[in-house]
Amino acid sequence: MRTLLLSAKQTAFDYLSPPCCVACKRGSVWLCRACNLALGDPPELVCPACLHDQERGLLCARCTALNAPLEQLISAYTYESRVFHKLLARYKERGLQAMRPLLVRRLVQQLCVAGLEQRKPVLVHVPCSRARIRQRGFDQAAALAAGLAKQTGLKHAALLGRIKSRSKPQKNLTVLTRRANAKGLYAVLPSEDLQIARLRGVLLVDDVATSLATLETCAMQLRRAGIRDVRAVVLAYAALT
Ligand SMILES: [Zn+2]
Ligand SMILES: [Zn+2]
Repeated sequence: MRTLLLSAKQTAFDYLSPPCCVACKRGSVWLCRACNLALGDPPELVCPACLHDQERGLLCARCTALNAPLEQLISAYTYESRVFHKLLARYKERGLQAMRPLLVRRLVQQLCVAGLEQRKPVLVHVPCSRARIRQRGFDQAAALAAGLAKQTGLKHAALLGRIKSRSKPQKNLTVLTRRANAKGLYAVLPSEDLQIARLRGVLLVDDVATSLATLETCAMQLRRAGIRDVRAVVLAYAALT
């Protein structure tokens, strides 16, 4: 209930306060033309296992043979972009829901470029912890997945649940410790949508992947539940080592 109230309060605030560009604070739109241009084109896509450049973000031939958990990784923004960080902060940390259609539009564009829409995968968001939802008033990945579902007509199903809290926040850890930290955090929930996900495959939705630890852990859980085709779409991917 508190979450709903927080979210309603924030949404009301978004629409009552006149917009100005979230990056340069000028103009009368949430993202001005100059800052939109400064965001640049979507990044080059990489193989989701070895991270080498790879067309449409598909697994390369070598990694396909290694049976990597993710088949494809799509990202929409360059992680290093200063304007992107401002967009993300306003959306995620300050809950500016007016940002969401803009972020979703770019995700949809990238899905079309990657040829993913035709596959009709089930959208499954990477759930955020209850503590974070209480703090922010919403689950940012669930909201993105809902926006994507609305724009594309793809089905959104909450197939993953958080089963415990992280011992440490991911952003302060190395890649290896991130993997250990993400392990055992997510579980596939019983759902009548599982069968359709087994048939059509899953497209995981998350905001930012600062390593692949979380996405890989979720993909492995889904594969254990009989879903063989798992791909992912994120706003941005940071190739941290
Ligand atoms: Zn601007
Ligand atoms: Zn590869």
